[in-house]
Amino acid sequence: MQTADVVIVGGGVMGCALAYQLARRGLGVLLLERDALGVGSTGRCAGGVRQQFSSEINVRLQRLAVRLLLEFDEETGGHAGFRQIGYLFLLTSPELVDDFRCLLEMWRRLGLEEARWTTPAEARELVPGLEVGDVLGGTFCPTDGLAGPADVTSGYARAARRFGARLLEGVAVTGLGVRGGRIEEVVTTGGRVSTRLVFDCAGAWSAEIGRMAGLELPVFPYRRHVLVTDAFPELGRTSPMTVDLAASLYFHPEGDGVLIGMSDWSEPPTFSTEVDWGLVERMAAAAAARLPALGRAGLKTAWAGLYETTPDHHAILGPAPGVEGFWCACGFSGHGFMQAPAAALVLAQLLLEGRSEVDIGPLSPRRFAEGELISERAVI
Ligand SMILES: Cc1cc2nc3c(=O)[nH]c(=O)nc-3n(C[C@H](O)[C@H](O)[C@H](O)COP(=O)(O)OP(=O)(O)OC[C@H]3O[C@@H](n4cnc5c(N)ncnc54)[C@H](O)[C@@H]3O)c2cc1C
Repeated sequence: MQTADVVIVGGGVMGCALAYQLARRGLGVLLLERDALGVGSTGRCAGGVRQQFSSEINVRLQRLAVRLLLEFDEETGGHAGFRQIGYLFLLTSPELVDDFRCLLEMWRRLGLEEARWTTPAEARELVPGLEVGDVLGGTFCPTDGLAGPADVTSGYARAARRFGARLLEGVAVTGLGVRGGRIEEVVTTGGRVSTRLVFDCAGAWSAEIGRMAGLELPVFPYRRHVLVTDAFPELGRTSPMTVDLAASLYFHPEGDGVLIGMSDWSEPPTFSTEVDWGLVERMAAAAAARLPALGRAGLKTAWAGLYETTPDHHAILGPAPGVEGFWCACGFSGHGFMQAPAAALVLAQLLLEGRSEVDIGPLSPRRFAEGELISERAVI
């Protein structure tokens, strides 16, 4: 039987970032990915990285994540492709305006001083041609931006391997051996592994891994679509990620085209990633209503992937109550690409040093049973 200090289930950005942070601290890491590294939600992600959130814990984590992404190339030898083109939130109701005015104060208190209020006219300067007739105001943070999901994932994976981590593809975890209330082994399609520590980094499939240990983790899969247009030079390549929050619509430059995303909140949880072409048409129309020039753009491609959503739209990070040795790094609710660098660092610190530079107590799996859910309103 193989042995490992720690087994990481799932080879998306989260699993790879964690493999790196734990291996560089000297742990014998075995990461098991049933398919190929980065082909889950990570491979379908829009690459957005922002610090403008409504909960303090998300802002703190994201400020750390931005610092780590800026240091990524030097630290890992990879290339994050981090471009700080900013995020522009467009607010179309008095309630959103009041909310974001208060959020700006909270962001400043947490050190996010560069975020600023934006009038409709300023929004149009940032994104020429933007339809702002219904926009009451907005916020813009120039240090938000975009990074490359595949590049960040492979950069962490390569760096983890340099520190001796074993990252195996095509090996699925099929069971967990729990004896006397603690993890003892991991059952896989490639045999059994003896270990006392498992990290659940299985994204939208995390609840399934939890059930293998007798845990109910509230992580639900929601299908989310994006489309990419043909070449569209009318939108500048440094134009910010633009978010119409009430419509759950966003777009940003992608290659020589534009990537457009929009959530369909009415769809129940599903593991299907089949493209709903009717929705893609509605997304294109909604984007053209916000930026009329987009009405002339051709469709290059579209795809769907899964958000791994929790009841309070916050990640689940830390040891699970009731099963010693089972740790969660999941439930990112559509923000896992941007949160993984910080989540991996603070989890490694918590595990090995007993405390972390951002207190992730509020994200503990205990909060669901204890009724201590956190609100996050800036959900796209
Ligand atoms: C359309 C779309 C746009 C998005 N845009 C953004 C964005 O702009 N910014 C952002 O931060 N986030 C975004 N997200 C969310 C982001 O993609 C996810 O939160 C993030 O990729 C989660 O990473 P992960 O490593 O936790 O999960 P995944 O990348 O899903 O990795 C989990 C892995 O676990 C593996 N696995 C599952 N079960 C098993 C098993 N039994 N044994 C072994 N392996 C297993 C899977 O094969 C998978 O590879 C977007 C998501 C979608 C769908």
